[in-house]
Amino acid sequence: MMQDVCVVDTTYHKVMRELAKEGLDGILLSDLANIGFVSGFFTEDSYILISGQGKVFITDSRYNEVIEKKCPGWQVVCVSPQRHLADFVAEFCEKWEIKTLGFEEDKITQGLFSQLNASLTQHLSVIEMKPAGDIVKKLRMIKRPYELDCIRRAARAADDAYLHVLKLMKPGVREYEIAAEIQYQLKKSGMDGESFPSIVAAGAHSSRPHAIPGEYKMQIGDFVTIDMGAKYRGYCSDMTRTVVIGAADIKQKEVYDVVLASQKKAVAAVKPGLRCCDLDAVAREYIAACGYGENFLHSLGHGVGLDIHEMPTISKNCDIVLEPGMVITIEPGVYLPGWGGVRIEDTVIVTEDGCEVITKIPKYLVEL
Ligand code: ZN
Ligand code: ZN
Repeated sequence: MMQDVCVVDTTYHKVMRELAKEGLDGILLSDLANIGFVSGFFTEDSYILISGQGKVFITDSRYNEVIEKKCPGWQVVCVSPQRHLADFVAEFCEKWEIKTLGFEEDKITQGLFSQLNASLTQHLSVIEMKPAGDIVKKLRMIKRPYELDCIRRAARAADDAYLHVLKLMKPGVREYEIAAEIQYQLKKSGMDGESFPSIVAAGAHSSRPHAIPGEYKMQIGDFVTIDMGAKYRGYCSDMTRTVVIGAADIKQKEVYDVVLASQKKAVAAVKPGLRCCDLDAVAREYIAACGYGENFLHSLGHGVGLDIHEMPTISKNCDIVLEPGMVITIEPGVYLPGWGGVRIEDTVIVTEDGCEVITKIPKYLVEL
């Protein structure tokens, strides 16, 4: 399960190929997930500058020692009050003759951008900074076997934690108690932790797709939606189930069946060559035909990996084509304000001829 240096070297060469396609001589990475993906090392407050001439980690004295040890082949430099990030970037751009530098426009502050611009124009006569935020993110869409193993392991731990808390759910239990137990179980099973703060939404709260667990005590007749995931070696999983405390009534069964059928149809449709927007339509059109089109508030799903939400987005606006090795969620929902809602979500790996569902929890309506 250890990530080997050869794999990371391959990634570096893939980034180089993408830079050449975009007409860039180098790129400054500030997105920590992208930095981890390219270097194989996950850290904080650090940057990477790479070009065909070399690769350098720009960090500070808290991390340089461990990075030097874990990242052979990388040059490591430390910022200090005397030498800022922008100084190092200018220095390496000059040394490596970078004329066009890519940067991650969605992961850089205006303040840092201004500093970089000032430093680069002061040191170099010809340099252009170009937004290139998607370059590494696109490479991350197709997962390597090591990454798939990590995500499978995270999904298994999330399944186990979910089954554990299911036994604790009964009238009188507060939403936050279940959320806290999920966090504890994931840590206890050796995960990095949660892939995002769990959603535990009972009763009318379940009509809010991203409700925050609060003091509300579960009651007989409540829908409870649990949306949770684990993180293992930096990789996320994501799943949602909706259950009923006590017996479900006719309306609850009807809405649940609509969401379940749409979810199963979408999972069955996943295959290489399908556009994300067409996959979204499979579930959306079915839900609309059942009369709940207005109540399916969000996109069908998203990519999962080092970030809980990453490329591609399974929405009507995304024309990215599914490929083997992509990891995506399928999570339709129907939400009726003041009444409640249902969402069912699996994480799946796109395979050569369909998909592998890595969320193993059954999907029939559980009445507790
Ligand atoms: Zn989720
Ligand atoms: Zn999700």
